[in-house]
Amino acid sequence: MPYTVPVMEVRMAPFLTAAAATARMAGASTEVTPTDTFVPSAPPSDATEKSRVIREMIRKAPGEQARQSVVDALSAYPLKALEIVNAYGTKIEVFDFQNGDTVPEYLPTLAYGNVMGAYNTKANVLGLDVRDANFPLLHEFAHALDAALNEESATPEWKGAHSLAANTNRVVRDYAKQDPSEYLAEVTTAYLVPDDALYGRIEAGLASGAHGMDERDYMRMYQSMSKERLERLDPDGHALVADLLEQRIYEGNLANPQPAMTAEQWIAFTEAQHAKGELALP
Ligand SMILES: [Zn+2]
Repeated sequence: MPYTVPVMEVRMAPFLTAAAATARMAGASTEVTPTDTFVPSAPPSDATEKSRVIREMIRKAPGEQARQSVVDALSAYPLKALEIVNAYGTKIEVFDFQNGDTVPEYLPTLAYGNVMGAYNTKANVLGLDVRDANFPLLHEFAHALDAALNEESATPEWKGAHSLAANTNRVVRDYAKQDPSEYLAEVTTAYLVPDDALYGRIEAGLASGAHGMDERDYMRMYQSMSKERLERLDPDGHALVADLLEQRIYEGNLANPQPAMTAEQWIAFTEAQHAKGELALP
């Protein structure tokens, strides 16, 4: 799967080079004395680390193939974004409704035939229909990242970009007009799909049933869902998501962890909300 090398790693190289140069100027030896008591092991590769972090978040899946599909799709995110969401406590659940899985109470919208993914912010659980681990997974994971970053989409920058894009019709998909949070999820999804991967992803979506939609509607819905198309269509949104994934995630200011609720915890939570006269809907 294609992914962008996180900027921090790129920045580390000149820093280390400068440190080594300083050490040399100070006359320090750069020789390493070999010993047989300490053999440093090679650091795990970025891809290995991503796979480990993503698998840690998967709480339920019908099988290894489904797990690997989640790893492949989410590896488009920088490692740091994956680590932040994992530390926030988000869990991912993949459902196979054709083979006996039932819709959990905390993800009721998955009951609709055309809904392939959902994220319950209160329960902090991301649910996915096994038939499509493609655009919907990138979209729902962006909601989890948004939550882990203290609702980044609620900042004036994101609200302004959403308002401008929605009112001038410069959105990668109509659904992005909904509100700043959906806007952030949509532009993040587009940003993570390179132009040359778009057709393959649309083909895969069609092959998996096109969310039960008419094929032409499906193609129309996703025709602009790639990084370069986003940049042409909505430069402000592109700049904001570039800042989010290349800068903001390394700056801290994270939300307090909110461990994903179990089914029992969710029921207790909604009953308490009802008792207070508040409706808790995902
Ligand atoms: Zn959404």
